[in-house]
Amino acid sequence: MKIISINAGSSSLKFSLFNMDDKKVIASGLFERIGIDGSSYTIKYNGEKIKEEIELSNHTDAVKILLDKLVTLNIIKSLDEIDGVGHRLVHGKDKYKESCLITDEVVNDLIAFKDFAPLHNPANVLGIQAFKEVLPNVPMVGVFDTAFHQTMEEEAYLYPVPYSWYKEHGVRKYGFHGTSHRYIAKTISEHLGRDDLKIISCHVGNGGSITAIKDGKCVDTSMGFTPLAGIMMGTRSGDVDPSIITYIMEQEGLNAKEVIDVLNKKSGLLGLSEISSDMRDIVAAMGNDDEQGSKAKRAFLKYTRTVTNYIAQYYVLLGGADVICFTAGLGENSEPFRKKVCENLSCLGVKIDNDANKVMGEFKKISTDDSSTLVYVVPTDEELMIALDTLKLIN
Ligand code: ADP
Repeated sequence: MKIISINAGSSSLKFSLFNMDDKKVIASGLFERIGIDGSSYTIKYNGEKIKEEIELSNHTDAVKILLDKLVTLNIIKSLDEIDGVGHRLVHGKDKYKESCLITDEVVNDLIAFKDFAPLHNPANVLGIQAFKEVLPNVPMVGVFDTAFHQTMEEEAYLYPVPYSWYKEHGVRKYGFHGTSHRYIAKTISEHLGRDDLKIISCHVGNGGSITAIKDGKCVDTSMGFTPLAGIMMGTRSGDVDPSIITYIMEQEGLNAKEVIDVLNKKSGLLGLSEISSDMRDIVAAMGNDDEQGSKAKRAFLKYTRTVTNYIAQYYVLLGGADVICFTAGLGENSEPFRKKVCENLSCLGVKIDNDANKVMGEFKKISTDDSSTLVYVVPTDEELMIALDTLKLIN
């Protein structure tokens, strides 16, 4: 049985083709600059990387070429081998509490919810429509980033603002990266052979969120109404006092959208360090005994402080934690980041093994045997989660 996982952006389409018998990726790739000059695709198969510049005027072109290449490169014998297509969908508001078969109603809802994810929902619809056109008889499944967080209780998801904002305008915490947090919870529960775990899942990449999970369900999460909230990120501020917005509007003559744009694109590591949004550059600059070094240090310290604060908050909320998991770009790869966060948590009895913590991109326990809490690095796999949900629903 073969399933394709799709992540459609406004000008890109990522795919992974899975053999569901062994849950392994057969081929994966990316179609880029769809509808823009200089479009191309890259397909990875059998240890080889095939890249070609080719005109892609829309997502349907990309899907047609993708399916054609899968056959002509002998990755599959015919399109009949594709049993299902799973789509990563970003915003399902509070209507979609789990993955579902994609119907016209789902597509209409994605369009109706577009104000909640203006960059993502319309792009997701383009991906769905392209597959519907090219593979009309193959079932499609939608896997929402927001769905996993739908188990939060009112006191977690409500903001302390007029209740009518929630009732009339849907102002509440939705949370994101849900498919990744769900994958982390499933993987660590299977590894430890327990379903009753208290897990703090730290998905820290360019964007990042921390989620408190109890018995496999989300209790609270750091991102909010939008992915701007929570921890400090590569270019996003995370939580700030909202009064800063009107103050800066007046001081710098900007409108509200422009200030939000700065909070999304020019803040976080980039804003505070004035060096880079990439933790690798920050860590490299921290070694300098000059102005660059102190800029990098202040960004690193603020970053790790905000992550520590959320872990500490969720430790209390959960009444302790069995496992803290690190995943995504920084979580999987950045030794100094994990070291600092865990040092900050030492008063809770969290201890890591500095040798084990050198791990990059591999599943590994990094806590010492006398640590109060297990600490693991768990590489995330949202594509596999999408394929597994698709398999379950098409069966
Ligand atoms: P996204 O949120 O866009 O999916 P990723 O999860 O791929 O991002 O994370 C990308 C970020 O991870 C980079 O911006 C960088 O800060 C960080 N990162 C990746 N590799 C390393 C590394 N080896 N050391 C430190 N940081 C890393």
